[in-house]
Amino acid sequence: MTEAVRAEKASGRTIGFVPTMGFLHEGHLSLVRASKSRTDTTVVSIFVNPVQFGPDEDLARYPRDVDRDTTLLEAAGVDILFLPEPAEVYPPGYKTYVEVRELQDRLCGRLRPGHFLGVATVVLKLFHIVSPGIAFFGQKDAQQAIVLKRMTADLNLDVDIDVRPIVREPDGLALSSRNVYLNPAERRAALVLSRSLGEARRAVDGGERRTGVILSRMRVVLEAEPLARVDYAEIVDPETLDPATEVRPGTLVALAVTIGRTRLIDNWIVAEKG
Ligand code: AMP
Repeated sequence: MTEAVRAEKASGRTIGFVPTMGFLHEGHLSLVRASKSRTDTTVVSIFVNPVQFGPDEDLARYPRDVDRDTTLLEAAGVDILFLPEPAEVYPPGYKTYVEVRELQDRLCGRLRPGHFLGVATVVLKLFHIVSPGIAFFGQKDAQQAIVLKRMTADLNLDVDIDVRPIVREPDGLALSSRNVYLNPAERRAALVLSRSLGEARRAVDGGERRTGVILSRMRVVLEAEPLARVDYAEIVDPETLDPATEVRPGTLVALAVTIGRTRLIDNWIVAEKG
């Protein structure tokens, strides 16, 4: 991988990078298209990173289909597909991990201790191996993007982080590789995430700025769905992830909801006009 990138750079080409865990969908492909529009050579990695999964999480059953992914990436015009093995990324004796303090403990980090340590570690390693000029991430994983921007700034990494909008199904469900876990009833119930964010947006559009009021309107929507268990619903500052008392443009409205055995996340960033 390192040699391939060195050759591309020697011929003056810029490198765009899209790290993924595979089982690709339109969300991933939107990042590929963004990379192709901004850089000369697009590298996609598929690596189901064991370090970012907790002991009771879905590492073993995480969906995988490398043949299908390869076909999709070829059709999308990806130049290089990087498929490292866990034993290459974390060889025996591996000891080094990256912590992004405080940010790693908020929101999803509270329920998934060690998750963002795993994400930051693998992304830093991938950045060193691929050495991209621009790396592309989805707003779907809002906290991940915030953690990685902080890491990139704190560690003086020479890479631009480009965060792209959430791609959704026509009915509003954010695309996720984990959506395949949902049975038909759970799939219908999963709409409660985007519906509650819609309620937040209506509140803001109607002039409401108090996060307490917005959150209680969201909770009414969430509690009406019997299959949903709310892991968190929070309105936070987009840099510190501290709870906000009033929304401003840029404020992050984020939630995680478990439907059956499947944990789903979604978010909305308050826009200029709501
Ligand atoms: P994953 O394979 O789940 O690790 O995701 C790889 C990248 O795709 C991450 O930057 C995600 O934020 C992004 N991504 C996942 N789902 C979506 C989506 N629905 N819309 C936009 N980007 C997404």
